[in-house]
Amino acid sequence: MTEELDQIQIKNLEVFGKHGVFQEENKLGQKFLINAAVYTHTREAGLKDDLTKSIHYGEMAHFMTDFMINHTYQLIETVAEQMARALLLAFPAMEKITLEICKPWAPVGLPMETVSVKITRGWHCAYVAVGSNLGDRGAYIRKGVEALGENQDCIVEKESQIIVTKPYGGVEQPDFLNGMLKIRTLLSPMELLDLLHQVEQGAHRERKIHWGPRTLDLDIIFYDDWIVDEKRLQIPHPDMQNREFVLKPLAELAPYYRHPLSGKTVEEMLLALKK
Ligand code: ADP
Ligand code: MG
Repeated sequence: MTEELDQIQIKNLEVFGKHGVFQEENKLGQKFLINAAVYTHTREAGLKDDLTKSIHYGEMAHFMTDFMINHTYQLIETVAEQMARALLLAFPAMEKITLEICKPWAPVGLPMETVSVKITRGWHCAYVAVGSNLGDRGAYIRKGVEALGENQDCIVEKESQIIVTKPYGGVEQPDFLNGMLKIRTLLSPMELLDLLHQVEQGAHRERKIHWGPRTLDLDIIFYDDWIVDEKRLQIPHPDMQNREFVLKPLAELAPYYRHPLSGKTVEEMLLALKK
């Protein structure tokens, strides 16, 4: 069983803002109402009666108010998206937020109580495999990890040891350095893949031979317990259970993480492969 998160809620916080598609809306402004359910851990704060262990709802309400006033967007979709991100970055104890932006005076010209956009956003845990077998391999990996960490929406939480491995896939080429990263990210799987490609390109990687030599290879192994099956992206990585150079460093970071399809732990997959 996975742990349930606690919630801190703010209901109908009223702010006068200038968001809208029409010029009059951007000039005159109108009333907005904000509802938020913030997912976090409150047990320690609750037991110790200590606010520093929780998220200060007063600070949060002021943050939301300032955000509404200091930005002008056309869409309440954008208000919700950008405010959710800003809150998640500003309050690190926030794991997830459900945010609703209501616009009761929206110029629709019909009797209605309100219109609103409601979204849920949060941090995700991804495991990313790193590999290099061309040029200064260690430096390519180091710079790749740095480049990932420079993206605000992507925090490199843990790094495995780097191991030396023999090439895979039958192409004659130099030995690899391989490792694993644990990443905390606000990016969707596809956005994360795009970022990994950007970082690979930064390392001057050319896609020539499939399974051929590369300055930097970054693969998504797991993304929470999600299953993604698209042309550009499969998660969990479809070949992970056959690759010791993936399982070994992964076992160092997450031996008991379960493959969402097979149900096997990383440790079990590694053991099965060695046999
Ligand atoms: P390799 O399989 O050796 O990593 P590439 O790095 O050249 O080969 O990747 C080829 C393509 O694999 C990428 O362009 C990407 O779209 C696709 N791909 C599918 N699933 C994944 C994944 N989980 N992580 C990274 N790339 C993936
Ligand atoms: Mg790859």
